[in-house]
Amino acid sequence: MKRLAGICMTLAALGAAGIEDPVRFADPFVGTDNTKEVSNGNLYPAIARPWGMNAWTPQTGPAGQGWLYDWKDRKIMGFHQTHQPSPWIGDYGQFSVMPITGKSVFGEKDRASWFSHKTEQALPHYYRVYLADYDTTVELTPTERAALFRVTYPASDSPRFVVDALDKGSSVEVDVANRRIAGRSSKMNIRGNERHLDLKPLDCWFVLEFDKPFASVEVWNGKKLEKGTSFSGDHAGAVVTFAPTARGESVHVRVASSFVGPEQAARNLRELGDCGFDGLVAQGRAAWNESLGRLDAADGTEEDLRKFYTCLYRTLLFPRQLHEYGEDGRPIHRSPYGKGVLPGRYYCDTGFWDTFRALFPLLAFVYPERDAEIMKGLRHCLEESGWLPEWSAPFHRNCMIGQNSASVVADAYFAGCMDDDTARALYAGLVKATCATGSLISTGRVGYDEYNSLGYVARDGATGGRQSAARTLEYAYDDWCIWRMGTALGLPKAETDIFLARSANWRNLFHPGHRLACGRAKDGSWDPKFSPIRWGYDFTEGTPLHYTWSVFHDIPGLVAAMGGERAVEARLDEVFAAPPHFDGSFFGGCTHEIREMQIAGFGQYAHGNQPIQHMIYLYDYVGAPAKARHWAHEAMRRLYKARPDGYCGDEDNGQTSAWFVWSALGMYPVCPASGEYALGLPLFGRVDVSLPHGRRLAIRRKAGAGTPSHAWNGKREERPFIRRKDLLEGGTLTFE
Ligand code: CA
Repeated sequence: MKRLAGICMTLAALGAAGIEDPVRFADPFVGTDNTKEVSNGNLYPAIARPWGMNAWTPQTGPAGQGWLYDWKDRKIMGFHQTHQPSPWIGDYGQFSVMPITGKSVFGEKDRASWFSHKTEQALPHYYRVYLADYDTTVELTPTERAALFRVTYPASDSPRFVVDALDKGSSVEVDVANRRIAGRSSKMNIRGNERHLDLKPLDCWFVLEFDKPFASVEVWNGKKLEKGTSFSGDHAGAVVTFAPTARGESVHVRVASSFVGPEQAARNLRELGDCGFDGLVAQGRAAWNESLGRLDAADGTEEDLRKFYTCLYRTLLFPRQLHEYGEDGRPIHRSPYGKGVLPGRYYCDTGFWDTFRALFPLLAFVYPERDAEIMKGLRHCLEESGWLPEWSAPFHRNCMIGQNSASVVADAYFAGCMDDDTARALYAGLVKATCATGSLISTGRVGYDEYNSLGYVARDGATGGRQSAARTLEYAYDDWCIWRMGTALGLPKAETDIFLARSANWRNLFHPGHRLACGRAKDGSWDPKFSPIRWGYDFTEGTPLHYTWSVFHDIPGLVAAMGGERAVEARLDEVFAAPPHFDGSFFGGCTHEIREMQIAGFGQYAHGNQPIQHMIYLYDYVGAPAKARHWAHEAMRRLYKARPDGYCGDEDNGQTSAWFVWSALGMYPVCPASGEYALGLPLFGRVDVSLPHGRRLAIRRKAGAGTPSHAWNGKREERPFIRRKDLLEGGTLTFE
């Protein structure tokens, strides 16, 4: 489409002006202080390039248990290359490195060193820490597929470097003459019936090059260190010892990895160039500033700038590139579906159930050239596996619900992020999933036959009584997305009308007495134990009170069903005012999501999880925009902090951060595929958004009194909504 063509040419013009060096406000430690009972983000400090294939994190917890880094830990056991999207999904393409001195040791606990946060510094593109037990300072800076370490040793006659390829099948090979270690790791967390699939973890080939010769080499054979230069087995590793170091002597380690093969890993090393450590740090800083600087915020507090750019940094990590650049410079990727190495780009490590809501709309709006690449990657996923992904890491994972790829694809389509051919291919994939299932709950629509015949997924049907109402609500919205995209593609009404009809299926589960969504059996009977505060059962990680609002595409219809605008306004008020009582019987107690709601001081409003995150903006639909402004600001102020316990639940691949970014801009995509944003009130007095074609959107907040209003290019509007189409023309949006 037209927009795509001009994007590349105008990239150079973007980010030209702006707040100086916004990356300095982004804090990777925010969200890293967690327990299994309460998530404050469940994040690790991801040191990476925007959408980079590999991220690096200091490692304070054992590999494979999900929590790689916790703020409360006092020892570092390695520096870990990671692809983990969430502790609940786990990692793959991973290995660890660690400098030590003195006795030669290997195991995670044996090699761990005391450290202090006071010696730790992290920016998205740079990390530094002092390892006290080894009197050694480690710095690292990544590119998209490689990283450079600068390790500054003390005066030592035994400066060493540990490479841990982890268990579950790995190998190492040390090339002493060329100061090189090559290896392979394949450790991955695979759950439940994912094991029944014919899918194997992607092998990760890695290579390290050192600028100091090895004096001696040992390998880890899974049980102990032994003399030798190679090992292949369940758990391989190596410890190389350098010639003695003088105090303050730095050793540089160039690291890269590949899913394509060992030669490609060596090719990926070229990303590091020859500009040296400080030169690469400057490149990383510039890369982040280009992406972060597209939203140029000013006239706010330092704390708000820190929250804003930290959230924006988290928004620009996922989905990750899985593709690499081959010898001829063209993108290639290892198919996660066992189809070998194929041409083209591929993105993964995201759960659409979370990210369709705010993250993908932000990409479509502000980073359309990236969204266009992601859409091409989705097409590869469809061609290689037969399905569009709902949760990919790197292949389909057996979790969550809905067919929210429909929202992601339709929104990108309407934002001009795909050519007609890609649009038709993706559309066909969406339609296929409306009447079929694969071997996982995330391929196709679980319960599609009931949904298509009865008009809802039955609580005693295919899902075995689980999540039936949540599935129905999301399928109905997804059907609306499919209808809208099919219509825009010019497909015959005879084909698309069915999706419009099904988009009204949410009504079939709307209980006229409770005036909330309620599970229903095949015979039409309602859930006899219905309670608005009962988590789980027919709903997903939430209650009827959280989920009923998920009629993104027909809020006026929902408002009418609930008894009109005043009734809905009162119900929304009640969500915040009610005590945080809960029924966790489905889970046998209190899950972390329930606890996060209970302790937040927001009543029944559960911002720590995704289903309700658009609810605040529903005040706009019932003539109470002042309340949308009020609660959006309360949530930004009270539920987000620029500190390690800064989030109010799982951050989830950029979604909870993207909520903040949108809200700070004074708007929110309640119904992503509609291309219309509900308005709140900007956090900053001024935000300039760099748009394609060199256009700029100026967002301004001015003091005023009376009814909230906004003006678009000077024209005052009472209705608190604005269309992306208008914003993309560039202009000034003023809030009063
Ligand atoms: Ca979540």
